[in-house]
Amino acid sequence: MTTIYNFSAGPAVLPKEVLQQAAAEMLDWHGSGMSVMEMSHRGPEFMSILAAAQSDLRELLAVPDNYKILFLQGGGLGENAIVPMNLMGRKPQPATADFVHTGSWTGKSIKEAKKYGNVNIAASGEAGRYTSVPARDSWKLTPDAAYVHLCTNETIDGVEYQFAPDVAAETGGAPIVADMSSHILSRVIDVSKYGVIFGGAQKNIGPAGLTIVIVREDLLGHALPICPSAFDWKVVADNDSMYNTPPTYAIYIAGLVFQWLKQQGGVAAMEQKNIAKSSLLYEYLDSTDFYENRVDKGSRSRMNVPFYLKDESLNAAFLAEAKANGLLQLKGHKSVGGMRASIYNAMPMEGVQALISFMQAFARKHS
Ligand SMILES: *Cc1c(COP(=O)(O)O)cnc(C)c1O
Repeated sequence: MTTIYNFSAGPAVLPKEVLQQAAAEMLDWHGSGMSVMEMSHRGPEFMSILAAAQSDLRELLAVPDNYKILFLQGGGLGENAIVPMNLMGRKPQPATADFVHTGSWTGKSIKEAKKYGNVNIAASGEAGRYTSVPARDSWKLTPDAAYVHLCTNETIDGVEYQFAPDVAAETGGAPIVADMSSHILSRVIDVSKYGVIFGGAQKNIGPAGLTIVIVREDLLGHALPICPSAFDWKVVADNDSMYNTPPTYAIYIAGLVFQWLKQQGGVAAMEQKNIAKSSLLYEYLDSTDFYENRVDKGSRSRMNVPFYLKDESLNAAFLAEAKANGLLQLKGHKSVGGMRASIYNAMPMEGVQALISFMQAFARKHS
């Protein structure tokens, strides 16, 4: 049988070992006689699962003690409203949030934030069709901004920050809010450089339905009166992510992924693997005239690699032949077309090698 490699942008591939363990524990978790899905979220069994997931994530990202880790629902797009509802209140109304516009996902964040305050586009990659992160010295920040929003990995455009910016001096200490949905845990980060880090789990962590928010404690307690209690970070933090029923099964799977990451050597080891995998693919793309990646070399994503066939009339054949070779979900996002290989933590090097071998064979056949 052909080995299957799944390049979906999300929901995405999970480590096989995690799925095997989840299957083995599906009907009876640790002799409890229950599936994790059937447990009270306030019972000792699930409380132990939640506590382990939180502490493992804290360890993996070296989250400082003055940050809370929250498990919510609502996804990345939900956070586009939840963030302004929690942070615009830091400043007199109407407050202003700064955005660095790097592509599709910041575009959506900007649109949503406008419902809750003023938006300043501090810099935009639009003129270059979102193929690079605007240089830090070009950002026009607001002196009294409520926060500065960045999408540190643009999943559709394949653009990733290769630096952690500092905005405090120009903004009077505004916190950076980073949408890390599609690269959280793929590289070492210094959490203390951010006020808020958020991400939907379904790209690089676990099943859809779980949203992770890491927030500095002094940013809690500023929610606008219209903010639903279940999305008020202070309420969620005060209730240890149990104000309402959290997505229990998704938290359980995320916890298994955290354990798997620790067994792999943690985030630093993952980052080395991700550098090796993405470099191999970009080197191949740069070496051929048959395919191209259009992102600036200094802003290329290690997680999401969009590419185009020079002859786009071959797109359908490429996808059909890839699928026949066990290489799944390579179609690019409908807004940009072409192809996209998402190579998250759970994608082994062998998957990238199989993709390149197939691309070489396809190019030979159709040249
Ligand atoms: C997928 C994605 C989102 C949207 O997540 P949902 O869970 O569908 O709301 C937001 N931001 C980024 C960077 C993403 O990759």
